[in-house]
Amino acid sequence: MADIRVAVAGAGGRMGAANIRAIAATPGLKLAAAFDRPGSPAIGKDAAALAGLDAAGVLITDDIDAALALADAVIDFTAPAASVALAEKAAAGGLIHIVGTTGCSAADEAAIRAAGGKGARIVKAGNFSLGLNILASLVKEAAAKLAEWDIEIVEMHHNRKLDAPSGTALMLGEAAADGRNVSLEEHAVRGRDGITGPRAAGTIGFASLRGGTVIGEHKVIVAGPSERLELGHVAEDRSLFANGAMKALLWAAGQPAGFYTMNDVLGLN
Ligand code: NAD
Repeated sequence: MADIRVAVAGAGGRMGAANIRAIAATPGLKLAAAFDRPGSPAIGKDAAALAGLDAAGVLITDDIDAALALADAVIDFTAPAASVALAEKAAAGGLIHIVGTTGCSAADEAAIRAAGGKGARIVKAGNFSLGLNILASLVKEAAAKLAEWDIEIVEMHHNRKLDAPSGTALMLGEAAADGRNVSLEEHAVRGRDGITGPRAAGTIGFASLRGGTVIGEHKVIVAGPSERLELGHVAEDRSLFANGAMKALLWAAGQPAGFYTMNDVLGLN
């Protein structure tokens, strides 16, 4: 079977570079195109060389349509508006679209999901790591079995991160809410300041720390009377997310058009 031709969106970014390295290391995948937003300093550079590999002759362009015309799949860790626009294009072109972008609004999520019904094969995840997705199922179980205990989610990321709480923290919050059969939106407390009063029972709290070069750390604290359970995950290298994205891409190649998550890829549903 011919290699799957992959376009990398946000090729000048941190995850873009990690994805380019992972494509080079994954049999069955081939870097076909790389693009970034108009005005990015990465435009015109060799994508592989920028990612620390030998130059491969794929120059980073800002012509998204030209890049997608060369590809069967697009890997997209960029920004919410870019991911929504790419989902539409993936639907029109019948492409595989792997979406790692976080910070999407409910309307963005709905638009990306809808593209799965219009011809794209989309896998979207707030976190592509195996360990983190297993953590989410443990959190769901703990939340269900310790139904009266307080749940707090603490995350730390590098000082360039744009959104808070992290997509992964929200994914863990969804898992906790799922375990309790409640809506996260109605139970989330996103940060506290000032005279907040006692903690409301049944809420799911979030705290976001930012600093240095931390790739991603998450801790879910389930606190009861005189004891607490702490479940956590530490990402040590971005290759973790990129390798998960490759796994999702290869899995999606065998699926019909639709919207999928990492639970589908890992068989955790
Ligand atoms: P980054 O800022 O280093 O890279 C983002 C890149 O996207 C930049 O090069 C930027 O120019 C480019 N971009 C922005 N708008 C674009 C557009 N319209 N078209 C093409 N390119 C565009 O950020 P990063 O650390 O690589 O993270 C990117 C996203 O991935 C963030 O939302 C982050 O939270 C998320 N992320 C997800 C996971 C996961 O497992 N799901 C893991 C790590 C990071």
